[in-house]
Amino acid sequence: MTLRTIDTLGDLEGKRVVVRVDFNVPLKDGEITDDGRIRAALPTIDLLLRKGATVIACSHLGRPDGEPNPKYSLAPVAQRLSELLGAPVTFVETPPADISSVEGDVVLLENLRFDPRETSKDAGERASFASELAALGDVMVSDGFGVVHRKQASVYELAEALPSAAGTLIASELEVLDRLTETPEKPYAVVLGGSKVSDKLGVIDHLLPRVDSLLIGGGMLFTFLAAQGHKVGASLLEADQLDRVREYIARAEELGVDLIVPTDVVVASKFAADAEHEVRPADDIEGGAFGAAGIGLDIGPETSARFAEVVAASRTVFWNGPMGVFEFDAFAAGTKAVAQALTEVDGLSVVGGGDSAAAVRALGFDDDRFGHISTGGGASLEFLEGKKLPGLEVLGWQGK
Ligand code: ADP
Ligand code: MG
Repeated sequence: MTLRTIDTLGDLEGKRVVVRVDFNVPLKDGEITDDGRIRAALPTIDLLLRKGATVIACSHLGRPDGEPNPKYSLAPVAQRLSELLGAPVTFVETPPADISSVEGDVVLLENLRFDPRETSKDAGERASFASELAALGDVMVSDGFGVVHRKQASVYELAEALPSAAGTLIASELEVLDRLTETPEKPYAVVLGGSKVSDKLGVIDHLLPRVDSLLIGGGMLFTFLAAQGHKVGASLLEADQLDRVREYIARAEELGVDLIVPTDVVVASKFAADAEHEVRPADDIEGGAFGAAGIGLDIGPETSARFAEVVAASRTVFWNGPMGVFEFDAFAAGTKAVAQALTEVDGLSVVGGGDSAAAVRALGFDDDRFGHISTGGGASLEFLEGKKLPGLEVLGWQGK
C-alpha cells in the first residue's frame, strides 16, 4: 500500500476535517522567531478550505509535560496563522471540549500536550484522547511531518479512529526523502554536523553504501578526529561512540566513499560569542594559544572551501546539522559556506533538521534557493536511517 492522499477522502464539502499539523515553532518571549512550520502547513489548509471543508487544526508546542502552561500556548500561532491565511482563526483553549458551537472555517485547538494522554506510553490512554479528538471531525488529515516518527495519540491513534490521509506537506517530504534513499542522482554528497554524534550515526550507517562523499562538520567532527588519534582539547567529544566511528571510517574506505573530515578548525578560548579564537590544523588543536582548554567551534576556512567545492559539484546533496556554533557570528562562517554551496547545486539540495533550517534563514538565505527544506529533523533522520515511522505506516505508507 502506498500513502493515502487527500483525494482518497472523497467529497469534503461541508465536512469537518481534523488536521494534525506541526506548529512546534521556536518562541522567544512569546514571539514566534521562525514561522516556517506554519507556512509549510498552508497548502494543505488552503486545499481543504477550497474543497469547502471546515479545518480543525491541532498541534503540540514544546514539552509542557501533560499540563496546561501558558508558556507553551498556541495562541500566538493562531494569530500568525490568521495573518498568513488572511482569514480569521478561532482559537479553542480547552480541547477537545465540544466545539460544535464554534464558528468559523478555521479552528485551532490549544496545545495537545497539555493533555498527558497525547504522549502517554499507554496505548489505551492514547486511544481515549484520540477518540475525543475524532469526535470533533468527520475525517482526519495528517500533515505534521515533524512528528510522524512518534506514536502519539493525534499522530497514530487519531489516524486509525477516523478515515485519514496524508496532507501535501507529508507527501512532498516523502517524495524528496525517497529520492535521497532510492534514486539519488550522482555524485551524491551528505554533509553532517550539529551537536550530537550519536543522533546521526544511524544515518551514516544507512546512507554510506549510497553516497559518493560524506562530509563531517559541527560538534561531531571532534569524535571523528579523536577516532583518528588526534587530541581535541575541550571540544565536544562522545567518547562512547569512538569504536562505532572507527568502524564507519573503515567501511567508508572499503566502499570507496570519500569521507571528508576537516583539516582545520576554529578553536576558541571558551564557549561564548566574544571568545578569543584562532584557526588551528585539525591534527594539532591543542598546540595553539589555548592549549588543551581550546574548544573547536567551527570548521576552518580551508575545510569550508573544500566542503563548498564538493557540495557545489554534486547533483544530490543532503545536509543536516550546522558546521559550527552559527548562533555566534564569529563561528558561523563554515555553516554559511556550506549553505551558499547548497544554493549552487545543479540538482537536488535538501536541508534537514530544525537548527539547520533555522540557520539558513538566520544567515539570510531564502527558502526557495534550496531544493527542499525539511520541516522535520528527527523524522527525516529516522526516515534516512531506514526506520519504519508509525505516523506514516498508519497512512498506508510501507516504503519501497
Ligand atoms: P539539527 O537541529 O539541524 O538537526 P542539531 O540539533 O544536531 O542540528 O545541532 C545544532 C546545534 O549544533 C547548534 O545549536 C550548534 O550551535 C551546535 N554545534 C555546531 N557545531 C558545534 C560545535 N563545534 N560545538 C558545539 N556545538 C556545535
Ligand atoms: Mg536540533
